[in-house]
Amino acid sequence: MLINIFLPIYLMHIIIICMSDKNKSDKCVLCLKKCDKLTKEHLIPKSWYPDSTPSSVQRLTFPSCKKCNNEYSKIEEKLLTALSHCIDPEDEAVKGLFDKQKRSMNQSKGRDNKDANSRQNKKENFRKQLINNPKDVPQNAFLTGFGIDENIQDDNILGLLIPCEELDKFSEKITKGVTYLDSDKYIDPDQYQIEISIYKKPINEAMLHHFNSKSTTFLSSNIATIKRSKQRKDPTISSIYLKIWNKLEIWSKVKKDSLLK
Ligand SMILES: [Zn+2]
Repeated sequence: MLINIFLPIYLMHIIIICMSDKNKSDKCVLCLKKCDKLTKEHLIPKSWYPDSTPSSVQRLTFPSCKKCNNEYSKIEEKLLTALSHCIDPEDEAVKGLFDKQKRSMNQSKGRDNKDANSRQNKKENFRKQLINNPKDVPQNAFLTGFGIDENIQDDNILGLLIPCEELDKFSEKITKGVTYLDSDKYIDPDQYQIEISIYKKPINEAMLHHFNSKSTTFLSSNIATIKRSKQRKDPTISSIYLKIWNKLEIWSKVKKDSLLK
């Protein structure tokens, strides 16, 4: 008899727990839309990990809708193609990435006609981004950590245009993902504003030192370092520093703007 009384209560408990869990994670971290079937979006794109990455390295994910997941896959693939051509391929931090990208533009490696054509298209689009005289480009237009290497005495050096819009979108994704994973918060655009600084602000030692003293390390692995400092009262308000492949540095700030509705 006792079991008969207690069992329904116990079950109810389970149902309540399940429901509250569902409510918590049915929203896409990126577009904030509610969605029945969420996918796992990788904080650092899967394809950006170098060959030397140990299998024990945790690949962090957060919930996103399929539409956002697909959209960001395209952005990240495009960025990887460009960025992996601007880092020394022998560098341990990017080992294997350049070769994979080279193969992905090689028509003769196509599995079938369709695949061969898509590789050829990728190569042609890549060529359109090339610029002949990067030495004429103003210094503040280079990504932090990249730019002209004075040790390379080659007049045939080429430059590559990286679309700012895509780099900004990628940085926003990281900001939203880290805010969710670290503080369990969604960034509502009606209340908060994300400000991205990629090459617009030079990173000086004093600024880095000041930030380091207030921040905690959210991630430290062979591919990326992420540090974050957050406001105690409202942990959505924060500053995030990201460094990928020991090269690409991105800063972002989440601010509450009183002018926003
Ligand atoms: Zn979404």
